[in-house]
Amino acid sequence: MKYRTYTVKTFRQIPQVQKHLTEEQKFDIEVVAQVFPFKVNNYVIDKLINWEDPLNDPIFRLTFPQKEMLKPEHYEKIAKLLKENAPQEVIREEANKIRMELNPHPAGQKYNVPEIEGMKLPGAQHKYKETILFFPKQGQTCHAYCSFCFRWPQFVGMEDLKFAMKEIDILIKYIKAHPEITDLLFTGGDPMIMKTKIFKQYIDAILEADIPHLRTIRIGSKALAFWPYRFTEDDDAQEMLDLFKKIVDKGYHLAFMAHFNHYKELETEEVKEAVNKILETGAVIRTQSPILRHINDSAEVWAKMWQKQVEMRMIPYYMFMARDTGAQHYFGVPLVRAWEIFRDAYRNVSGLARTVKGPSMSATPGKIRMLGVAEINGEKVMVLDFLQGRNDEWVGKPFFAKYNPEAMWIDELEPAFSDEFFYEKELEEMLAQKV
Ligand SMILES: *Cc1c(COP(=O)(O)O)cnc(C)c1O
Ligand code: SF4
Repeated sequence: MKYRTYTVKTFRQIPQVQKHLTEEQKFDIEVVAQVFPFKVNNYVIDKLINWEDPLNDPIFRLTFPQKEMLKPEHYEKIAKLLKENAPQEVIREEANKIRMELNPHPAGQKYNVPEIEGMKLPGAQHKYKETILFFPKQGQTCHAYCSFCFRWPQFVGMEDLKFAMKEIDILIKYIKAHPEITDLLFTGGDPMIMKTKIFKQYIDAILEADIPHLRTIRIGSKALAFWPYRFTEDDDAQEMLDLFKKIVDKGYHLAFMAHFNHYKELETEEVKEAVNKILETGAVIRTQSPILRHINDSAEVWAKMWQKQVEMRMIPYYMFMARDTGAQHYFGVPLVRAWEIFRDAYRNVSGLARTVKGPSMSATPGKIRMLGVAEINGEKVMVLDFLQGRNDEWVGKPFFAKYNPEAMWIDELEPAFSDEFFYEKELEEMLAQKV
């Protein structure tokens, strides 16, 4: 299948859009797409979206901007400019202003930039002892964009081999100097957007370096959902699979961290074939997704998705909370509600699907899980714990917050039975040292 993408400039050419959307709906998309990233491709359009009822279709809502993602006053501003045919710069300036109000850099990312021999590695993040995240420059875009995602600051394309080589050299130096690192996670964007020959440059350098404490290579990707042809019929699909096999044959654990938001993404012949091809290389596929209002905020959807993943020999891994950024007001699900959905789904699937952890917030102190609601001495409280912490001493210790059924994020919670959460003072000290 030939890969075709559409953006805000070209989406009106999509036959299904012409046939099934009204002029007003198209205008709404145009307005919202000035602020949020919008890119969709022919696989998503032809194979995933039900065009008989697009506005109620989860994959349409996952990829096409929705009017309600903008607050009414923001919507009106952009709509007015578009109707007046305002110059692009004026619209862009207004859109940037709105973006700045939407917390574009959440969760203290700026604190996690690794440094070695006086060199900074801005394309990496080292927050939890055992795992380093690497954002290869050429992997900072995706086959289509999720409407809830707010990684627009990094969505730029670039195909520069020399740059890649320089970056990977520093990364390897850093990993060698940190024996606690066992996992290297390629992320983005989507690293599987890279041509195999580019990705291979990174992988070959890592394999060649032969770092004894590095045991796992992970690839975070939504390509199985958005472009499964990446592993079946793209020109360099077989080379990518060969590269996976090479990693496995060298003795590494290769974990393909697949991003799926809905069971509908698991139903095509294309995705089944792609999953089988990846598994044949010896890689393991683990799955993860945020919980999102209007897309997957129901226990049935999650139970069906996890069960289906297990049937396809994938391992459910994480349920995330929608980040405190972008259109959280539209996609966000409160912590208590997310836990209810998680629990209802969890208790309705086989133990083999209960490998999943969550709902989890990737927040400044760490990955904080909403464990549940309990009553202690007559007081209703929320129970939380760390799945990952900036300090690994924090992991696995339950702590309590006052019951708040509306809260969507840790910063909206207040400690119960105490003036502050047990980690707060230490976190403050850690962050002060890093500035
Ligand atoms: C989620 C995450 C990881 C990986 O955590 P695991 O629990 O090992 O999957 C690593 N680094 C950062 C910054 C993360 O957010
Ligand atoms: S695939 Fe991942 S990085 Fe890309 S738009 Fe979706 S959530 Fe964002």
